[in-house]
Amino acid sequence: MSIKIAVDAHTHTNCSDHAFGTVWENLRVAAQRGLELVCMTNHTPPMPDCAHIWHFTTMHELPDYIEGVRLLKGCESNVLNIKGEISLDVEHLEKAEVVVASIHQPCYDDRDLEDHTEAWLGVIKNPYVNIIGHSGDPRCPYDIDKVVRAARDAGKCIEINNHSYSVRRRSAENCRRIAEKCKEVGCGIVVSSDAHTPFDVGNVSNALNMLEEIGFPEELIMNTTAEKFVGFLNASGKNIRL
Ligand SMILES: [Zn+2]
Ligand SMILES: [Zn+2]
Repeated sequence: MSIKIAVDAHTHTNCSDHAFGTVWENLRVAAQRGLELVCMTNHTPPMPDCAHIWHFTTMHELPDYIEGVRLLKGCESNVLNIKGEISLDVEHLEKAEVVVASIHQPCYDDRDLEDHTEAWLGVIKNPYVNIIGHSGDPRCPYDIDKVVRAARDAGKCIEINNHSYSVRRRSAENCRRIAEKCKEVGCGIVVSSDAHTPFDVGNVSNALNMLEEIGFPEELIMNTTAEKFVGFLNASGKNIRL
């Protein structure tokens, strides 16, 4: 089996200083690598070095296609608390074409496994959230069985984040456990680069290697084609056209 993705569901641009590519550069690399669709998902306030809130107001002025690759204008929002609240107002969430929700330490209090579980269960209930971002971080362990089953039932995807293999290296074991649970209970996943430079757009090799090792079923990977990915988003009430 050789799994390929056609969608990168989580990328950053240089609208904040810790990422380095313009949206055009990111999409040019995506085109060279044969991707059909890229989600621009910059950090929302109050993450340090986030995109300005106006970024999320004006991003829709970008064209739908750049270099022949479909661009979805979304965000990576922050899980704020154990209620699972995320840090973007409804007005912007409604406009975002895809919403990744992630725990980022600067925006979230470190607590214990029960609290992290409750936080993710709260996030899963949020109708605007599509993707549970890089949850394999061992600093925030949670009840994988409970959360993955809830995500499946709510039609959310769990992200397997390739960037975790370089910046959150201790996540690797958890990512495998999470993927194994998704396989066991039939929860959809997306495999993302979380690229902070154009050179990483579409780079999901470590995540794919792990998925191939565990014999992960391709039908549960929602970003193998643009059509499948958009179908997943539209099943949650969005109205995205290719
Ligand atoms: Zn993140
Ligand atoms: Zn990210």
